Amino acid sequence: MTIACVELDVPIAGPFDYEIGLADVFVGSIVVVPFGRRRVVGVVVGLADSSVVEKSRIRKIERVLPVEPLPALTLSLAAFCADYYRHRLGQALSVVLPTKLRKPDFGIRTLLWGYALVANRAAELETSIPSRAKGQQRLYQALANQAGLDAVQARVIFKGAPRVLRDWTDRGWVDKQAAGLKQSVADKVQGEPPTLAPTLTEEQHQAVDRIGATLGRYVPWVLLGVTGSGKTEVYLSLIERVAAEGLQTLVLVPEINLTPQLVARVQGRFPHLDVVSLHSGLAEGERLARWERARSGQAEIVLGTRLAVFTPLPKLGLVIVDEEHDSSFKQNEGLRYHARDLAIFVANSVGVPVVLGSATPSLETYSNAIEGRYQRADLSVRPAAKAPSVRFVDTRGERIEHGVSQTALTAIARCIEHGEQCLVYINRRGFAPVLVCHACGWMAECRRCSARLTLHSRSASLKCHYCGHEESVTHTCPECGNQDLRGLGQGTQRVEEALCSRFPSARILRVDSDSTRRRGSFAAMRERIHLEKVDILVGTQMLAKGHDFPKLTLVVVLGADHALYSSDFRAGERLFQQLMQVSGRAGRADLPGHVLVQTEFPQHPIYASLAGNDFAAFADSLLKERRSAGFPPYVFQAILRAEAHRESDMWSYLKGAAHKASGTADNSITLYDPVPSPVSRIAGRFRGQLLIQASSRPSLRRFLSRWHPLLEEDRPGAVRWVLDVDPVEL
Ligand code: ADP
Ligand code: ZN
Ligand code: ZN
Repeated sequence: MTIACVELDVPIAGPFDYEIGLADVFVGSIVVVPFGRRRVVGVVVGLADSSVVEKSRIRKIERVLPVEPLPALTLSLAAFCADYYRHRLGQALSVVLPTKLRKPDFGIRTLLWGYALVANRAAELETSIPSRAKGQQRLYQALANQAGLDAVQARVIFKGAPRVLRDWTDRGWVDKQAAGLKQSVADKVQGEPPTLAPTLTEEQHQAVDRIGATLGRYVPWVLLGVTGSGKTEVYLSLIERVAAEGLQTLVLVPEINLTPQLVARVQGRFPHLDVVSLHSGLAEGERLARWERARSGQAEIVLGTRLAVFTPLPKLGLVIVDEEHDSSFKQNEGLRYHARDLAIFVANSVGVPVVLGSATPSLETYSNAIEGRYQRADLSVRPAAKAPSVRFVDTRGERIEHGVSQTALTAIARCIEHGEQCLVYINRRGFAPVLVCHACGWMAECRRCSARLTLHSRSASLKCHYCGHEESVTHTCPECGNQDLRGLGQGTQRVEEALCSRFPSARILRVDSDSTRRRGSFAAMRERIHLEKVDILVGTQMLAKGHDFPKLTLVVVLGADHALYSSDFRAGERLFQQLMQVSGRAGRADLPGHVLVQTEFPQHPIYASLAGNDFAAFADSLLKERRSAGFPPYVFQAILRAEAHRESDMWSYLKGAAHKASGTADNSITLYDPVPSPVSRIAGRFRGQLLIQASSRPSLRRFLSRWHPLLEEDRPGAVRWVLDVDPVEL
């Protein structure tokens, strides 16, 4: 083989042919090659004896990165992504690689090289050394006397060694090999007392036994269990079985903030096992070191956020996706993959079970379970706590203070008196979602987006949550000159402020993406909550997921009704998931929990199923609606999104794309007209979209494979577009 076919992260479809030369190249090798005037990292996807490219135009592989080649499964996962999500393979492969390995100079400084003479060419090398080149002679002697030298030893013998060794290596007289990467640091959690497994409940036992019986083959499982029902205990028991076989478990979690907590729990249970966590918050070097421990098979348990699904795991025995419904498993930039779906692909390719755990599975997953495509195990009771009681506060009949009802204020007061904690949940950050003039109705809007500006901290600034634009607050209405501008509606800051003045001696903590921007600040806050240094928590989504605060007994939900007005057909599903999850925060330990939901529509079916803690009833009714309306999971969608500074460019592009679609679609495909995106302008760009629906996944794939290649043809230069397959947001 003299030619390597290499996929590169460049905006041209590959693969590209390169001459292998003397490099040690395999399929899966990560290599550095010249491309134009740049040097880029690529992955070898094939080897060949010859190329159709003219010989003089074929360039040489510059070097092979000093890591093991990617295994076949990782290559096929990338190929699946490229095909399914309509992405270039080279770009998909670069998503798979840890950032460090995307750099051409990786390993040059961090790696120790070893050199050895190539046996049958030693004589040739010796005679080539001029008699006055004493340094070179010393170097040759050392190589001949010892089995090999590393780069540091060589330089001690002769200062010019690096240059000379490079030359000898190029001539094929000397063999150069990685003597080893710098050792990785383990991320063992220190000081966690070992914990014992509780005696499993009957349901947990059954789940472990049934799922455990399928180890060794591909079976997709849905583990449906209300929050606090002990799903994590089920995972732990399964992990133990898998590790006992010497195999690895991959656990995907939605939130980077949840990983330390889970790592501590896993490590606490299995102090003798190697647990690594992988997420985007790690420094590059650390991430690579951990990736390497997973890739080499050393780590038995690999825990991470969506990107971790790409980690090569040579001894994979089980895949777990916790909170599988969570939208953060969907990547919304670049390669728009869904980590849960890829987890299923991986489990299927390797032939191991995959467990999708949730209290509120996505309707896609749930329908697979009820139609028998997935196996199902249910956990219906909470072993360590009772289900929280859920009540609705009809805000139409109450005096509301900065968004908080009297009923809620009374409940909060009682909670504090008892020395317990409460959480006021509102999924909007900032002070107020909009600044209005009460005289003429003017509202502060972003100049660059079709969106209102959010008022932050009473009067300091106005921020756009779409483009990041920030300006100082105006005190005079630009339309009518009125001086009485007011923030309308509530955000976390306003609720915090209102509660501070109402409960001046209470310790109040606000947790949202503004207050946790600094690295590590969220962990510090969690610590304070655990140490009971907080009475009232005010927070967004960030606090709703998975956290376990034993003293938290009351959850007050504000602003939930917004979702009822949404135009997105998934809004109801998402609201229910959020409410179930945030309710699950109340009463985790021995204290009973209460949930108060403020609403103008206490009779709404979503709220009724929430009160009855009845996911099945809720999901069944939504599925019926989806089926009759022709929405997923009964159809399969893709959205072409386009944006441009000139609105007309965007429209002409989308119309052209729609025209091409009608030429390629068969009757299993429904094409919709181009429409403005829900936020129709962001950062000065107009945005529109085109929805495609198919009656089956294969027909969608077929259609996209024909349509997608046409989308770049006669595109007005100023238009940017992306194709989103299985979008989770409209
Ligand atoms: P989930 O993952 O479903 O939210 P967890 O596994 O975190 O639930 O369990 C919730 C709480 O119940 C934890 O404090 C856990 O230690 C406890 N727990 C789980 N299973 C049992 C059991 N069989 N016996 C006693 N306590 C249990
Ligand atoms: Zn005005
Ligand atoms: Zn903006």
